[in-house]
Amino acid sequence: MKVKIYRGTHEIGGNCVELTADNGKVLWLDLGEPLSTVNPDVSYTANNVDALIISHPHQDHYGLMENVGTDVPVYIGQVSLGLISATKIFLGKESPKSNFILFQPWKEFIVLNTFKVYPYLMDHSSPEAFAFVIEADGKRLFYSGDFRSTGWKNKLYYKLLQEPPKNIDLFLTEGTMVERSNQKYPTEQSVYEAISTIIKDQENATFVVSSAQNIDRLVSVVKACNSHKKRLIIDIYNAWALEVVHEKSKGLPTIDWETICVYNHPSQLSRISDPKFSDFKDRVIKKDIGNQIFQNPKEFVYFLRCPNQKLIEALLPKGVIKLVYSQYEGYLEDGHKTYCSDSIIDLNTSGKVDFELIHTSGHATLTDIKMLVMAINPLKIVPIHTECPDKMKQYLEKEGFANVEIWEDGKEYLL
Ligand SMILES: [Zn+2]
Ligand SMILES: [Zn+2]
Repeated sequence: MKVKIYRGTHEIGGNCVELTADNGKVLWLDLGEPLSTVNPDVSYTANNVDALIISHPHQDHYGLMENVGTDVPVYIGQVSLGLISATKIFLGKESPKSNFILFQPWKEFIVLNTFKVYPYLMDHSSPEAFAFVIEADGKRLFYSGDFRSTGWKNKLYYKLLQEPPKNIDLFLTEGTMVERSNQKYPTEQSVYEAISTIIKDQENATFVVSSAQNIDRLVSVVKACNSHKKRLIIDIYNAWALEVVHEKSKGLPTIDWETICVYNHPSQLSRISDPKFSDFKDRVIKKDIGNQIFQNPKEFVYFLRCPNQKLIEALLPKGVIKLVYSQYEGYLEDGHKTYCSDSIIDLNTSGKVDFELIHTSGHATLTDIKMLVMAINPLKIVPIHTECPDKMKQYLEKEGFANVEIWEDGKEYLL
């Protein structure tokens, strides 16, 4: 088997790994949209490929998947496909038209009669994220995808440490955190505690800015709300993301929970006009918060991506408004800004809100990676999804692992 990393040996995101078996069959792992603008060339997406596997529904892993066309089978998890479709629906775009084949966690499947694939469910900021063992031609590769050990699903990580895959020739491990720190809030539990402390004595509404698909974070906020008898307001897109995830994880919150209500935005409601949403639509309308927030704003916590300036201004006379920024702080810096970064920066600098950064990463710390390397004990380790593979190599070498190799994008290696 030959292995090539098209992107990701020296950058975070845009992952695409190519495996070529001795019989010539070509399998790709992830086909992400690059997060960095340094190298916009994605012409490799037109290369020949026979099948694609998507690890999880983050843009930097699936964003270019439709480039393979509608004939190539795309293996994907049920929640991942549901969340990717949700994004499209609420952006008013057509659902992805790929040739999807669903796989289940912990259930081996064979791709192209050549690659034996075993998917491990992992702890990550996405509610469904997989790592894979892939076997062909007598060689075994472990691809970590994105993972961590500090979320509400961290038992998945510890399960993997206890029952690691055996006889791994190559471990492609993510290394996002080599250059980032997670010290202030090391776990999802610590995020829950910090948000809980804030909303406890709030005299006005609290806004928590995060991703609608970061269900672990939403759970942290729901827990905090439940601790202090607050009500959580989410938008219709977020409500639908919960529906999708709830299909597989019945313990997770939905809009039917007493503490959860919905901000019924007309533009979002218009996105779910298809009859298949009719039951969901009725339930949304039933949980519509309307103008209740103005009657007793301190009772409410808003979970959203982009706070509404006019709403915040209307609430200002009721006391200090807290804005908890609960996602990667780099999104507020030039080069990584998202569509509402400027609005949030403006709210902060204008003093309209009391700004607080409370976030824990979706990615593994170096210690998490080291523990996994020890458990798997692979013949070779290659960092991916990292800006600093050299630092990761240095770190692992100091810890006694002399088998770390740094690869180049686009170069083929024989396994
Ligand atoms: Zn990623
Ligand atoms: Zn991810």
